[in-house]
Amino acid sequence: MLDPAVTQNLNQFVQLDAGHAAGETPLRPEPRREALFGLDAEALAALMVGLGEPAWRGKQLAEALYRQRVSDLSEITTLSKLLRSKLASQGWEVGRPRIAQVFQSVDGTERYLVQCGSTARADAQTVETVWMPEGDDGEAGDGTDSASPQISGAPSFPHSPADRVGDREPRAGAVERAYISPNESPKSWRRATICVSSQVGCAVNCQFCLTAKLGLQRNLTAGEIAGQVVAALARQGVEVGRDRVNLVFMGMGEPFLNYENFMAAVRLLVREAGLSPQRMTVSTSGIVPGIERFAQEPAELRPKLAISLNAPNDLVRQELMPINRKWNIESLVDAVRLVKLRPRERLTFEYVLLAGVTDQPEHAREVARLVRRTGLPVKVNLIAWNPGPGIAYSMPKPGAVEAFRETLAGEGIPTYLRRPRGRDIFAACGQLKRTVES
Ligand code: SAH
Ligand code: SF4
Repeated sequence: MLDPAVTQNLNQFVQLDAGHAAGETPLRPEPRREALFGLDAEALAALMVGLGEPAWRGKQLAEALYRQRVSDLSEITTLSKLLRSKLASQGWEVGRPRIAQVFQSVDGTERYLVQCGSTARADAQTVETVWMPEGDDGEAGDGTDSASPQISGAPSFPHSPADRVGDREPRAGAVERAYISPNESPKSWRRATICVSSQVGCAVNCQFCLTAKLGLQRNLTAGEIAGQVVAALARQGVEVGRDRVNLVFMGMGEPFLNYENFMAAVRLLVREAGLSPQRMTVSTSGIVPGIERFAQEPAELRPKLAISLNAPNDLVRQELMPINRKWNIESLVDAVRLVKLRPRERLTFEYVLLAGVTDQPEHAREVARLVRRTGLPVKVNLIAWNPGPGIAYSMPKPGAVEAFRETLAGEGIPTYLRRPRGRDIFAACGQLKRTVES
């Protein structure tokens, strides 16, 4: 017997066979597949008990889903064949989000279109996830062990010849359908960052962001958020606990407008997949009630926090980010003060540099005053704006970026420059919009 809640859940997915027109042959209900992936160890134990099995079988199932990263019931060899077929006959499948398409950048970045939901499900949507070998320096100087070894100094712009691709406008022709096969070669990276989406599209409507153009399509479930990570870890053969992999919840969507599912995903990734919350950073556009809630999360489950400031004052910010009319900079500063930072942890402010709009020296001085007002250990991550079609801003000149960084650093604010990764495949910050045109 299935747990009643699970049975009820399952019944919602019973669909009439769409292959038959109404009035023709009798319609036969087809049980829709329900995903095990996304359930935590407790729910899996309840499911097992419902099937007349001991609760510890739930732990085995969790191990298989989140640590061994199986993608099919047949791979769960710790469960008997009989039990696996029982699960299948009850409508269960692994149901982990699947990397359906891969775009590879000249700089090694990979952008994944991840298929969410069961393939049988009508609303199966794709969402985007980005794999950045060697990261983008987003964690630099945040005081934790997930930070890049480079703690001080002046990151140059751009960093390497490979980054120089970022100086060009994205070329549609550079977007290529790549081969989909697990990366079996020995690891070519020493550390990596996975950029994870929390919603399909976004409702916040920041004027400089390509994701905003999609509007909000829907929230992702906890399984769909955690599944992007597990699918990327599987593809790259990451050994959790050995390899240095950071997560940033900075893909599509506003995590704090999908708070429950976002935090449920974090719990899955920490408790079931064994990842450390100190190697995770969540970025918010400034959803104050979300920040207040986040401040209450226990340290063992709380990722680090980044605030997308993006402007030196309310006037500029409300033009760029309409959300500022609801929650202004002062209310943001009040909210972040509630977060109890861990020893050596820093609060990050993200700041997108738009030529002429946010990249002037006086803006840098205003930002320095503003972030100091928090009274917290902070750092600023500068992001040179990544262009997107239909967005009428300009990229800042490298000289302006460097001058901005120097001014902030001169004011005693630890300041780092995020490297643009994968601009040629529309994988860089703010460029995620399921761009598949070739
Ligand atoms: N919605 C969340 C997280 C996703 S956006 C947030 O806004 O914080 C991740 C980061 O990308 C944010 O700091 C955002 O300001 C930045 N960003 C958005 N569009 C950008 C663009 N076109 N170029 C550079 N950064 C951009
Ligand atoms: Fe949404 Fe973040 Fe883009 Fe703003 S910057 S529209 S909050 S994804």
